[in-house]
Amino acid sequence: MKARYSVIVPMFNEEEVIQVTYERLKKVMDDCGDSYELVFVNDGSRDRTAEIMRGISNADEHVKLINFSRNFGHQVAITAGMDYAEGQAVVVIDADLQDPPEVILQMIAKWKEGYEVVYAKRLKRHGETFFKKITAKIFYRLLSSMTSVEIPTDTGDFRLIDRKVCDVLRGLKEKNRYVRGLVSWVGFRQTMVEYVREERYAGETKYPLKKMIRFALDGITSFSHKPLKIASYIGFFLSFSSFIYLFLVLFQKVFTSWTVPGWASIVGVNLLFNGIVLMLLGVIGEYIGRIYDESKDRPLYIVSETRGYPDAEIEDTRKASDYAK
Ligand code: UDP
Ligand code: MG
Repeated sequence: MKARYSVIVPMFNEEEVIQVTYERLKKVMDDCGDSYELVFVNDGSRDRTAEIMRGISNADEHVKLINFSRNFGHQVAITAGMDYAEGQAVVVIDADLQDPPEVILQMIAKWKEGYEVVYAKRLKRHGETFFKKITAKIFYRLLSSMTSVEIPTDTGDFRLIDRKVCDVLRGLKEKNRYVRGLVSWVGFRQTMVEYVREERYAGETKYPLKKMIRFALDGITSFSHKPLKIASYIGFFLSFSSFIYLFLVLFQKVFTSWTVPGWASIVGVNLLFNGIVLMLLGVIGEYIGRIYDESKDRPLYIVSETRGYPDAEIEDTRKASDYAK
């Protein structure tokens, strides 16, 4: 029988937390009194995550395990979880217990009221650096000012979605995935529950600055063309100012004897303009790179092993390579 609830847990090098996470999730889901599955997606961990998870999945039939062949990234791991999840309601939660599993019960209550997306809004974030909090705050506000899709601020991927929404998301084939944006984009009846984000239970963040920047750029480029337009705004502004400056120069030349040696101003203007041009080329490059990614038609992820599924069924319907079709 198919489970009623699926809980997706993406994991990257989470050996220190995964046992505890599993136990807490199990307790919460046992309490909810309906059938469930825990879909753990191991995103190419290089530590003992896979080993520990194999042990857990052997002992508990609720546990499904999907091992990637390498690290494909958090958003892709969530996507894979959605491909494999069978429940009528699908929950995505981080592996590090920053999202308290108990909140899932509140989400389920909302779902039973008829909501199709229940996202969790962070009231507070404990145990995260000032830098992370401030950059996150700025980013979410910047993103919402740039896009016409209303993406709720201060929410992560911790959310519940209905089977219908999950199926729609599975149909969106884009490679540079910004899952929380896509969930907003698809619409449906959405609501939220509020929660306090806890400290990471153990281990380090798996989102170093580099991944955060990449993630932020995916969010912006997937949902806004504004950065491309900035190029033309700046272009207009600069041409206009240069025009005025030209008049000034001509005026000086014709009506005054004030001849400028000119080296500093020429160098200054050059540096400034070259800098701006390169920056704008970079913006265009970000988009072109993503267009290239989309056009390559590679599968989003490669699964090296699954546990907890009858093999035949996987072979028939859930090959990772099907995703790209
Ligand atoms: N994660 C992942 N692949 C990655 C990076 C992170 O699956 O390449 C998982 C990670 O194991 C965790 C979740 O994504 O379950 C969120 O990561 P993390 O807690 O490190 O991010 P933070 O909370 O610091 O933003
Ligand atoms: Mg975390």
